[in-house]
Amino acid sequence: MLSIRLFFLVITLTTLSLLSFVAKAAEPDWNTINQETLQRFQAMLQVDTSNPPGNETVLVDQLANILIAEGIDVEIYSRDPNRANLVARLPGNGSKQPLLLMAHLDVVTVDPSKWNFPPFGGTLDDQWIYGRGAVDDKDNLVASLMTMLLLKRSGIELDRDVIFLAEAAEEGGVQWGIEFMTSEHFDAIDAEYCLAEGGGVIRENGEAFYAGVQSGEKKRRTALLTVTGAAGHGSVPTRNNAVVHLSNAISALAEWQEPINLSDSSTTMLARLAEISQAEAAARYRALLNPGSLAAEEAMLYLLDNEPATAALLHNTVTPTIINIGYRYNVIPSAGTASLDVRLLPEQDFDSFLDEIAAVINDPAIEVSWDDALVRPSAAVQLDTEAFQVIEQAYQEHYNVPVIPRMSTGATDMSYVRAKGVSCYGVGPGIDSEDLPLGFGAHSDQERILEQELYRFVRTYHDIVVRLAASQ
Ligand SMILES: [Zn+2]
Repeated sequence: MLSIRLFFLVITLTTLSLLSFVAKAAEPDWNTINQETLQRFQAMLQVDTSNPPGNETVLVDQLANILIAEGIDVEIYSRDPNRANLVARLPGNGSKQPLLLMAHLDVVTVDPSKWNFPPFGGTLDDQWIYGRGAVDDKDNLVASLMTMLLLKRSGIELDRDVIFLAEAAEEGGVQWGIEFMTSEHFDAIDAEYCLAEGGGVIRENGEAFYAGVQSGEKKRRTALLTVTGAAGHGSVPTRNNAVVHLSNAISALAEWQEPINLSDSSTTMLARLAEISQAEAAARYRALLNPGSLAAEEAMLYLLDNEPATAALLHNTVTPTIINIGYRYNVIPSAGTASLDVRLLPEQDFDSFLDEIAAVINDPAIEVSWDDALVRPSAAVQLDTEAFQVIEQAYQEHYNVPVIPRMSTGATDMSYVRAKGVSCYGVGPGIDSEDLPLGFGAHSDQERILEQELYRFVRTYHDIVVRLAASQ
């Protein structure tokens, strides 16, 4: 072993031209790999893993056969035999902590009558591949699988273990998937970094515009407002009418604006959006970097009207979603409830936020509480990491676009992994921004991906993993 290392050292020092030749020879044959990617991707799309019921085990068996045939060890974990999770591991030399490649096996359900192509057909038509899961999340699934196969075939030495987790039940039922894996089998997936879904390259008019990398997510809970008053006849107005108290409470919350609160991730997001935007928009993003200023307040009002998804990332939010009160036109009801969808920034505290809601409502007739649904864990995300740098480099090289870190307003399974101390980043392929309103996006009735963008993503993903894991 020592003599082999020495031999390579001599080559490195003396024959640089030979080294570059060796490097080129080691570069995979991407034309052949693209064909294999297409075939494996279509095979995945052809397995119906609609959740509910999921049936992820059918796809786990398909993946296990592929991995085992190439000499990669596979472990299968399940609480329910139909809802399996697969873990495969390529061992490294242990000089760095492992890298986890995570993707989910399940997809949301379909209404087949709305599809022009069979939802589980994996049809390739005019440069597009159609099928449920094409961009959520069988794109990440095939990128992870292909990367595992390519690393194994290359025989490249790894500084860290590379772990592949194909998980069940991301679209609902975390107890079969990520909650189960992190609470009972975390040893099997413990890592320093994790790559998963939630990012991607935004294309406009067929050109890559920027790459969004999911770097954090808000945490959610449902707050309940419970109102009580005296029941009575509708013909006799009263001052303690519960309907009036409840609607006043909701109006007060609607008027209330939580102040701008910038995380590491949203500061970087705003600064980079400013760099790539036209002058007027750029000025707005820059103004938001000074929360508390008049310009920031004006910019926030603009975002609330025109870019609500970006506005939501800059502060805690409360959205009334259900009002449940009254049962007869001429009866003043004595009780009722309203539900609020509360989304907090990662480092905020739920209980003190509930006190703030109560203070805004300021009405003794209304009790404020959390519902008892499961609370997803959450954790802040670091951007000054080796992994984020490598992801940025790879997207810059393959797409020639800047990378914008972006929190999600919704939760993903990364929340469980991040809460265990793993730095997770969401990556994805190029998606035409025009495709979403046309109904071709994730969860739509014509979910699809551009064939060439799938290949470009697999290659980018592979490069990220090689740079993070291969011995230098
Ligand atoms: Zn997904």
